[in-house]
Parts: sequence; C-alpha cells; structure tokens
Amino acid sequence: MERYEIDKLRALPIEGVADRLGLKVKKHKALCPFHADSHPSLSFHVGHNTYKCFVCDAHGGPIDLSMKLTGKSFIEACKWLADEHNVILTEWKPAEKPKKEYPPDVEYLGRLVAHPVLNADARRFLFEERRIHPAVVQWLGITSISVATPCWRNGKPYYDAPSLLFPYRDRNGRLMNVQSRYLGRKEGVPRFRFPSGAECRIYGLQVLERLKTGEGLWLSEGVTDCLALLSSGRKAIAIPGATLLKPEDVKLLASLREEKKTVFHIFPDKDEAGERLYRQLLNAANEIGACLIKDELPEGYKDFGQWWASQI
Ligand SMILES: [Zn+2]
Repeated sequence: MERYEIDKLRALPIEGVADRLGLKVKKHKALCPFHADSHPSLSFHVGHNTYKCFVCDAHGGPIDLSMKLTGKSFIEACKWLADEHNVILTEWKPAEKPKKEYPPDVEYLGRLVAHPVLNADARRFLFEERRIHPAVVQWLGITSISVATPCWRNGKPYYDAPSLLFPYRDRNGRLMNVQSRYLGRKEGVPRFRFPSGAECRIYGLQVLERLKTGEGLWLSEGVTDCLALLSSGRKAIAIPGATLLKPEDVKLLASLREEKKTVFHIFPDKDEAGERLYRQLLNAANEIGACLIKDELPEGYKDFGQWWASQI
C-alpha cells in the first residue's frame, strides 16, 4: 500500500466511518464502545478528523477506530475501509459487491440439513476435542459434509469440506440460514462461511422457547462456545463472530427481559474482542435496564469452550 493511499483513508470523514461501524453519532458525540458508557462520552473532532473518549481516553483517527472496533490488523482495516468507501488501493482490488443480494435459498438448505450425519472429522471435533454433549448436537440438528457443497441449488459459492453445518433457526424452529465451520487443514480457507449476502443472525434461538421465567441466559461469542455452554447445562445463545451488536439483537434482549425477566450472563473471552463484546453487551443491558453478570473463567483459559473441554 502506498503512503498517499493511507493518507486518503486517514482523510475519510471520521463521523462517516463511525457510522459505518455502527456507532450512533449525534452532535459530534456517540456512546463510547470502549468502556461501559451510558452518556455519550466519545467526541469527534471533525477539523482534526479524530475521536477521543474523555472517560477511558480511547482516541485516534479513522483507521485506528476501524482496527479497534473490528479487531482487524492495520492492513485488513485499511482494506475494509477502502471497500466500504470505494477507495481503490493499488495492491488491493475491492471485493466485488454482488449486484443484487439474494436471501438464502432456505428450501434447498433445508434439504441439506434434513438428515443430519456426522462424519469422522465432525465426531472428532465435536466429541473428542470439544466434548460437546451428543444430545446438544442432535437437538440442534448439526450435520456435516465431506465434499464441497454449494450454498445455493444452482452452484456458487460453496461450503468448504470437511465442514460442520450449523442450522440457524428462529424461535419457532423455522430454518433461517446455514453456517459452515471448516474442519480441514487447507490454508486460507475461511473458518466460518455463510451464503454471501446472507445476514449473520443469532445462533440457538430455539433455546429461548425452553427458557423459564427468571432463568439465566448465557451470551457467547461463537457457536462452539455456545455448544459448550449448552453441554454444561446452561441455556445459551451465540452472537457469532460479533464485532458489532445490531439494534435487532438489543431489541431481542429487551423482549426477553420484558417477557421472561431473563438475567443475562457472559464468560468474556480473554482477549480484546471478548472484552469489547462484554462492554457492548453491558452498554446494551444498561440501555434496556437488564442485568448482565460477568462470569470469570479460571486462570489460563481463553474461552469457555477451552475450559469445558479440559474438564471432563
Ligand atoms: Zn470510553
């Protein structure tokens, strides 16, 4: 990447970048995503094109904000910014945006997950490595593929193989989408894949129909942690690969608090992304008057799934 290209990204309007990252900017201020904030303390200086939080001292420019909020490296954050703002970089061709985004082919995906089978890779990963309870796998209808399989009935893109397929269902069990989790060793294959254009939804919504009034609900960062939490007897849903909480997600949490007096729990992953998700959820909980309990993992474990796998 050339110097002038980086300068170009640094000159992208800071408030516009913040907006694309999901922050609600009002009168040059927003709720700070880097600490539990209830009154907007993140300020934007349009002249300097920077942001600064007067409580936790987070500060920087457009590239810095993108890196911190998405967890991407400098180069990846630059590519993301370039894509989002149609800046052409010499070393980087912007991803081709599909002309029209099609919803997932749910009828076809339904056939793909209708008769769950677990191949050797799937059994090794779920039962030996992660110690997931077979009843959890069966209840969620998790299946696996041994050959690359299209996401649509008429071809591309493909779920890579070998992969697990996780059906995403709504609260009533209706199939919404299918996400793959690659189990192979090929370099450069994304670990998780959704049909392109498909929205990433919360995983495990069926659990909510079994949630009793006043019961605790664990919020996890990924599907595999969610499976571990369910295996431990906890009720859990996953916000997959969460970089940003969507307003619909907050609405769902608010409705649970209303309807079922749900108390929310989280075992934050022991890394920056985990802390960020925790702070985002804490902000959301404050916003809707809900309770979020932070459960601590014992020393030496980076996430709940790792701790769970070491227990049995
Ligand atoms: Zn702050």
